[in-house]
Amino acid sequence: MKPIAILGAGLAGLTAAAELKRRGLPAVVFEAGKAVGGMAASFRDAEGFSYDYGAHFISNRLAKALGAEDICRTVRHYGEAVVVDGRSRSHPFGLMAEPRFLASALKSRIAPRNKAPAANAEDWMRRSYGDAMAEDVAMPLVEAWSGAPARELSPSVGEKFGNSILKSIYLNAAAKVTRRAVCNGYTRTMPEGAGVYHVYPEGGLAKLLEPTLRKLDGSVRLDSPVERILVEKGRVVAVRSVGAEVPVSAVISTAPVNILPRLMEGTDALAPLSAFRYRPMMFVNLRFSGRAILPDTMVWVPDRSQLSFRLTEAPISMPWLAPEGKTLITFDIGCEVGDERWTMSDEDLAKRCLDQICALYGEGLRTRYLGAGGTIRTPISYPVYLNAYEAERRLFARSTGVQGLYSVGRNGEFAHILMEDVFWRTIRRMEDVERYVAAPGAWEGRPGLVAEDPLAGLGFASARLSQAV
Ligand SMILES: Cc1cc2nc3c(=O)[nH]c(=O)nc-3n(C[C@H](O)[C@H](O)[C@H](O)COP(=O)(O)OP(=O)(O)OC[C@H]3O[C@@H](n4cnc5c(N)ncnc54)[C@H](O)[C@@H]3O)c2cc1C
Repeated sequence: MKPIAILGAGLAGLTAAAELKRRGLPAVVFEAGKAVGGMAASFRDAEGFSYDYGAHFISNRLAKALGAEDICRTVRHYGEAVVVDGRSRSHPFGLMAEPRFLASALKSRIAPRNKAPAANAEDWMRRSYGDAMAEDVAMPLVEAWSGAPARELSPSVGEKFGNSILKSIYLNAAAKVTRRAVCNGYTRTMPEGAGVYHVYPEGGLAKLLEPTLRKLDGSVRLDSPVERILVEKGRVVAVRSVGAEVPVSAVISTAPVNILPRLMEGTDALAPLSAFRYRPMMFVNLRFSGRAILPDTMVWVPDRSQLSFRLTEAPISMPWLAPEGKTLITFDIGCEVGDERWTMSDEDLAKRCLDQICALYGEGLRTRYLGAGGTIRTPISYPVYLNAYEAERRLFARSTGVQGLYSVGRNGEFAHILMEDVFWRTIRRMEDVERYVAAPGAWEGRPGLVAEDPLAGLGFASARLSQAV
């Protein structure tokens, strides 16, 4: 049997390869970069400070599923706060206790319901949280991480938000009783409960993937970007990497979906995906003496005039990430490639971040500042759910529309999913792949979906329908 090509050796690509191997199917992983891990990478500087691509928190259940539980340390505490009117309030309870937020949330619940579905993210947030919380907290945050006005975003942005308040009360109480950082809002594929808590691998995030990599004995090719995916009669037949053509029985991509149209040869069925946008992001790390400079591990700053919308002091939860008596704070900054923020020097960024934290938590912090850690710039961070391509996004969530082509992982699904969801969703998707390679003549095992879809009148859908037929 021809191998199944996998684009990318991050969590999704390696998970897909291991699952295919378990099912007795041959797979080759092509990784464009020099190392495996993708976004699951960690950096350690000469002075002993460690940081990730933006602070990462994972669960014991994911670590166990990856066979990495033995190298993980339990996280004892994790908490979030939100800065409103210059003061930090705990999230979600401190925020809910704020009278104007509570009053407007209640008003939105009591007011007669608009039965029509929410038209955009702003509409969804006003209905879900009330005007005050939507305007002062939810909208500025969503706009900072997406780079688009909430009015232009799809209401599906709400799918990213966490558990209900009742579930949060239960998970919070469970954390107190068990003295573990019980996960809240980190996975939607699997249930969260008292037994699912945060852990962190010794030696950094990439260590998580080592047991999976060991199972793949030699089927990962580094420095091997896939440059073309060849399609004949609507079905993938080969990939081209580093000039060589490799015949394949299926392709699993974990690459950002907006580059897929450029890779495809023999079909333009994926053309609408080139409009899909990802938000670029910068992560600036500052070092300080002392600990617990922030009121909790993560602080949200819903203020459009500020540079960073999220500050994370990971050593509050994972003390081993900084030398004793010192700490590291990561500032998440939304930007566009080439804009004024993106092109700012690392020194200027650090200075602006220091100004921001001193304005929030006191000028005294300047005397504790130990200098800038690394700054990371990534052109691809959060998928942006613009209403302009919501119909195509929904269709794409069901199928790529090309037989034998599957797109998995965070950027591959174009979804706001964290590592545990990436893992379980990829495992489940391999069932479809196995069914396809066993009987490639059958349309992805889901022909009815396209024809029955209420959006089937759209051009993108009809292109798929004609292929299906
Ligand atoms: C700011 C931020 C914070 C996050 N925090 C958390 C968190 O706290 N907890 C959590 O669980 N998750 C978190 N995540 C999400 C997590 O990082 C991702 O879900 C996960 O790492 C995605 O893995 P992946 O394999 O889907 O993609 P990636 O890790 O991006 O891997 C894709 C790989 O494909 C390769 N590639 C691309 N194109 C090609 C090509 N043409 N040919 C060959 N190879 C190619 C790339 O080089 C890359 O290695 C966070 C993400 C961000 C952006």
